[in-house]
Amino acid sequence: MTEELTEKQVIPCNIAVIGNGPAGMLAALALSRRVDKVVLVGPCNHGQETRTTALMMPAIALLRDLHLWEELQAQAAPLRIMRIIDGTKRLIRSPCVEFRAAEIGESAFGYNIPNQALNAALAKAVKQCPRILPVEVLAEHYNLHENYAETVIAGGQKIRAQLIIAADGRNSQARQAANITVSRWAYPQTALTLIFHHELPHNAVSTEFHTEEGPFTQVPLIGKRSALIWTVRPEQARFLLSLGRQALSDKIGSKMGFILGKTEVETMPEAWPMGGMTARQFAARRVALIGETAHLFPPIGAQGLNLTIRDIIDIGRAVGSNTADSGAANVLAAYNRHRRPDVAFRTGFVHGLNRALLSDFLPVQLVRSSGLELLRRHALLRNLFMREGMAPGAGLKKLLPPFLQ
Ligand SMILES: Cc1cc2nc3c(=O)[nH]c(=O)nc-3n(C[C@H](O)[C@H](O)[C@H](O)COP(=O)(O)OP(=O)(O)OC[C@H]3O[C@@H](n4cnc5c(N)ncnc54)[C@H](O)[C@@H]3O)c2cc1C
Repeated sequence: MTEELTEKQVIPCNIAVIGNGPAGMLAALALSRRVDKVVLVGPCNHGQETRTTALMMPAIALLRDLHLWEELQAQAAPLRIMRIIDGTKRLIRSPCVEFRAAEIGESAFGYNIPNQALNAALAKAVKQCPRILPVEVLAEHYNLHENYAETVIAGGQKIRAQLIIAADGRNSQARQAANITVSRWAYPQTALTLIFHHELPHNAVSTEFHTEEGPFTQVPLIGKRSALIWTVRPEQARFLLSLGRQALSDKIGSKMGFILGKTEVETMPEAWPMGGMTARQFAARRVALIGETAHLFPPIGAQGLNLTIRDIIDIGRAVGSNTADSGAANVLAAYNRHRRPDVAFRTGFVHGLNRALLSDFLPVQLVRSSGLELLRRHALLRNLFMREGMAPGAGLKKLLPPFLQ
């Protein structure tokens, strides 16, 4: 788009997306299919990222649809088997459970993609999209009116839209402007992330060790490499961060019982304090929340961006239902209605799983281990669990007779 900003100019558009993270860029691309003009506001500050993101098949379908997959596929590692191993030393231990994508007729549950590659592909697609105007500065404040919403950027310039998509992260100002409050909580844990290579091939298997401090999860990357998300108590995180490369590599290998042979750390660990947050509403006053503006998860069970992609699909449908006004009350009501159960269920699930791992209370351990035993023994339950893990409602739908599916 060739338009240049001039001082005090009002830039009209259908939708203003605030935030240039993965959520904002994906939303701008998806919504540019629905409306004539999207303005994407936010600095393009995707620095050196060593994290990776596991995206399930429905999220991959959106990447395909947006023509991003051709570029990303070569850097994405399939996740064909997910294995849970009880690595606790407790009295009641759970059996090892394996979930195979082939069991539900899928070639993979999803793919693990380096964030660096994902952000680069999204930024390139945004630049090439003629319906998106990127404005690479911070939004400063908002004027929300009944019939339109304005985003004021540096220098007093205004972006006037029918709808604002707030993708400006966990401390969102756009959310505050819409008077949407949140509930927040913290976990007594820190997640360490790093990339390591290993002697033996991972064979597209992701292994999650359940430990007393939280999950220790290896997620395949291309080649004999994997990403690690290691959840520990903060004091243990400090200790692990103080280790040298060799000592840390040895610790990881032994923690995994050397199932991948000798391991060697490739990127030194980064620490992520663990917490959760959910918005009490997902849209109000011509502002719709997506991504970490709406929900924040501890990095357990690969939920964050997968859920964000469902936010984007739902806001796209809601916008598509009213071609005259993207921010009309019925659009916001439909979005609120659709997001509430999905976000509540995922938040509750991750919270419950994490708490069950941390708990030393015998009955809680019994419930956790019986649940895993049931999944191990019963294919029907396992199928339901796997399908629901990939897309909400998909498992329950499969239980219905074919004429009701
Ligand atoms: C360790 C870890 C592992 C994870 N693994 C997975 C996984 O495997 N699978 C998965 O699905 N999810 C995963 N997640 C979650 C996923 O990474 C996040 O959901 C996602 O990165 C959040 O993206 P976002 O765009 O919502 O937020 P952010 O990346 O925080 O982007 C917000 C953007 O808004 C911009 N901004 C802020 N204020 C303003 C303003 N005033 N004006 C304009 N712009 C503004 C910021 O500069 C930033 O670019 C993981 C998270 C962590 C921490």
